[in-house]
Amino acid sequence: MNLLIEYIRRLLSERSWGDKWLSPEVVTFLINNYAEKSDVLGRLTWEYGKLPDRTWGQYVSKQRKLYVNKAKTKDKFKQQVQTVLHEIQHWNQHVKCSLDKPSPAAAAKATYYDDPAVGATYDFNAMCSRNKWEHGYWKSPHEIEARQFAADNLQDALSRAGKFVSGKLEVEDVDEAWDDILDELTEHDVITRRMIGDELSAYDMNSPKNMQLAIQKLKELGAQVR
Ligand SMILES: [Zn+2]
Repeated sequence: MNLLIEYIRRLLSERSWGDKWLSPEVVTFLINNYAEKSDVLGRLTWEYGKLPDRTWGQYVSKQRKLYVNKAKTKDKFKQQVQTVLHEIQHWNQHVKCSLDKPSPAAAAKATYYDDPAVGATYDFNAMCSRNKWEHGYWKSPHEIEARQFAADNLQDALSRAGKFVSGKLEVEDVDEAWDDILDELTEHDVITRRMIGDELSAYDMNSPKNMQLAIQKLKELGAQVR
């Protein structure tokens, strides 16, 4: 596993419960960044839900809610982020239906309920059922599109979510972080342990081991450490 992925994996798990599950903050972040806004449907909500063992997540159009299988998320950050992105795209498809003119069948239903969201939901569900009937689950166009959306955005989402959770990560990998840390510190004539600690903290790298390493690297660079 490369260092960036390892680092992000740690960041994503740090604030979750007992480092077992994808943190609520990350799910909310993904929704805020990848879910379309909708005047008709309102906003996408989510919660951890009890889902069948084999189901990672589920979008329930009637509730406009995304369910995340908590049991499935243990140490599976990448897969879970991918799942959340996939389910978000189903919401985006639902939103797209709300922008189209409702079908006659949906219009009849929407008139009955006097609610355009009901029409959009009707059309979205009809589209999903029709696709599944015609193509099967795996080859349904809306499933292919959701998988593609998740694949296209996965690396970006992992990176952005990592930065968001840490509020600190601005670098591509640990080597680059060290370069930045040393650059920053060597601008001072005299460097204290406190300054080193602050700088390491800014990269979420403050540990006794890194403190020793920083002092060693700085001395090699000819800097004065007090
Ligand atoms: Zn799907």
